[in-house]
Amino acid sequence: MNDIFSITKGQLQDILVEAGIKKFRADQIFHYIYKENIWSWNEMVLLPKKDREILKGLLPIYIPEVADRQVSEDKETVKLLLRLQDGQTVETVLMKHDYGNSVCLSSQVGCAVNCAFCASAKNGFVRNLTIGEMTAQLMAFRKYVTSELHSVVLMGTGEPLLNYDNVLAFIRLIHEKDTLYLGYRNITLSTSGIVPAVYRLAEEGIPLNLAVSLHAPNDRIRKKIMPIAERFDFDSVVQAAQTYFEKTGRKVTFEYILIKDVNISDACASQLAQLFSHKNVLLNLIPINDNYDVGLYRPSATESERFLTYLKRKGVNATLRREMGSNIQAACGQLRIKRNS
Ligand code: SAH
Repeated sequence: MNDIFSITKGQLQDILVEAGIKKFRADQIFHYIYKENIWSWNEMVLLPKKDREILKGLLPIYIPEVADRQVSEDKETVKLLLRLQDGQTVETVLMKHDYGNSVCLSSQVGCAVNCAFCASAKNGFVRNLTIGEMTAQLMAFRKYVTSELHSVVLMGTGEPLLNYDNVLAFIRLIHEKDTLYLGYRNITLSTSGIVPAVYRLAEEGIPLNLAVSLHAPNDRIRKKIMPIAERFDFDSVVQAAQTYFEKTGRKVTFEYILIKDVNISDACASQLAQLFSHKNVLLNLIPINDNYDVGLYRPSATESERFLTYLKRKGVNATLRREMGSNIQAACGQLRIKRNS
């Protein structure tokens, strides 16, 4: 079935013509949906009544319902658990930054990658999200939280590069002038390091920000916490990120969660410094959200600062992420797991 949030204006025009509706109505419909936040055919009063009746049957509009909602104490992070049409739920998080609002989207229901520290894969992989379900997460935010969107990050549940075609079509769709008109530079895709897909992405000709979840300074430690490292080794992941930078000119961010007794030793810091000293990459250190089930814990603030200071002294472009949302279970998959258990 067609879905209004999955299609471009050109595709809508084709559907309209086939249904005997004038092509220019597509302009009005897209204006209602993307510029005026009107998501009911009945309210699109500029359309003739008979066209509205046809469209109701042809292109139902569905904005996910809120199954749960959490707001952090400082009100800067709002997390919605959204119910999709088939009853599955996904998490979407709004983060308020100085530069504007950023929405963190899910790309799949569940996840197959199974990183030890991450809650998303706990109940396994369920299915890919459609293009429209990704757009609808943004629309849900507009409806329930705020219309002011500055940037989008694909860092919620799922591995976006394992849902490649839908994710790319979604990104292209929200970039269009008639839709959300989001600049590619305001869109970030985070991956656990699906190497062939990173090379493919580098050839798309779109300057997305790429974040790569590295989380370790070498293969030995990475394999312990990220099973995907058995398929794509450490060097090939770093090389793919480097190629992405060369092809697109977009600086790559390596995400590095700080886990007590796992990846924050002096030896780890030194290996990272050897790799990234005076290189054109950003190393984003993120204290882990504790995962009691698997016994992975956040280091003390002093330990995290020490790790950061060492790297900076060695000339690594590193930052330590300001905590957001940890008191509302905003780490990937945590809210969905809570509701399902
Ligand atoms: N699959 C993609 C995107 C989703 S995960 C990826 O792996 O990048 C988004 C980010 O959240 C990743 O960097 C992931 O490693 C991180 N993350 C997952 N669980 C976390 C936790 N418990 N604490 C902190 N970060 C976590």
